[in-house]
Amino acid sequence: SFRRLEQRDGARDELAEMGETFNSMMDQLESNYDKQKSFVSNASHELKTPLTVIESYASLLLRRGKDKPELLEESIQAIHSESVRMKEMTEQLLLLARPKEQWLVSLGQVDLGAAAEESARAFRNAYGREIAVDLPEQMEQSVLAWTDAGKLKQLLFILLDNARKYSEEQIVITVTRKSDGGALLRVVDRGIGIPKEQLPKVFDRFYRVDESRTRGIGGAGLGLSLGKELADAIGAELTLDSVEGLGTTATITLSAKSNGDQVSFSQRVKK
Ligand code: ADP
Repeated sequence: SFRRLEQRDGARDELAEMGETFNSMMDQLESNYDKQKSFVSNASHELKTPLTVIESYASLLLRRGKDKPELLEESIQAIHSESVRMKEMTEQLLLLARPKEQWLVSLGQVDLGAAAEESARAFRNAYGREIAVDLPEQMEQSVLAWTDAGKLKQLLFILLDNARKYSEEQIVITVTRKSDGGALLRVVDRGIGIPKEQLPKVFDRFYRVDESRTRGIGGAGLGLSLGKELADAIGAELTLDSVEGLGTTATITLSAKSNGDQVSFSQRVKK
């Protein structure tokens, strides 16, 4: 087949092109492999930290628990909060590790006001934090978007959870219609904010801004990277604006219509 290639016009170019394609595929594979390796090593490290705390408190209890009952409260508190953190991390890791092909996405018309209200209610029940929902003035028509309601709420939950962790004040979800027919969902907080130079990095897996200011606040730096993937899967865009010391706004941009298909509710597997 080599000879046949040679005989054709431009066969040499074709060969060179194949060589280039091959090399770039190998580079891609290698870089994916490196990413996988660092993902596994980061994940193990992050899981080991809370485990170490749990282990040391448990062995402290074993050794001294009987004669020092005052150790009980502190130890159990620590063991509990570290377990919660590990559980959250494991759930997020499992989701991130699942191949995209297996993320079943159900696209359809979604009422964003209703999705916001439901997320706010679920959040209130889970954390006892009040969330205000700010809908457009003229609500004679609901704001609709073409997306996956369940995954949108999952995404909102991640953003609300960050707002809760990094601000003490009122958290607001706003729903706005865009002039092009699309819509914006925002989660607004007036918390500690994110330094400008770190803003692009917060979507990286395991990235957390300055551990010293967030120590004691649960999290593994996985929420936003999962959020980005969720947004991607449901045809949305996720962006973050923040001013250090003033607060953060997370914006989900959604489009009004499906990309051409007329089915009102379709079940499909995201490529
Ligand atoms: P984490 O589990 O650490 O919150 P995320 O991926 O959700 O992980 O966020 C990454 C980092 O971005 C956080 O550790 C925090 O430093 C910063 N961050 C995210 N959301 C906010 C917010 N609303 N206000 C301030 N900082 C935030």
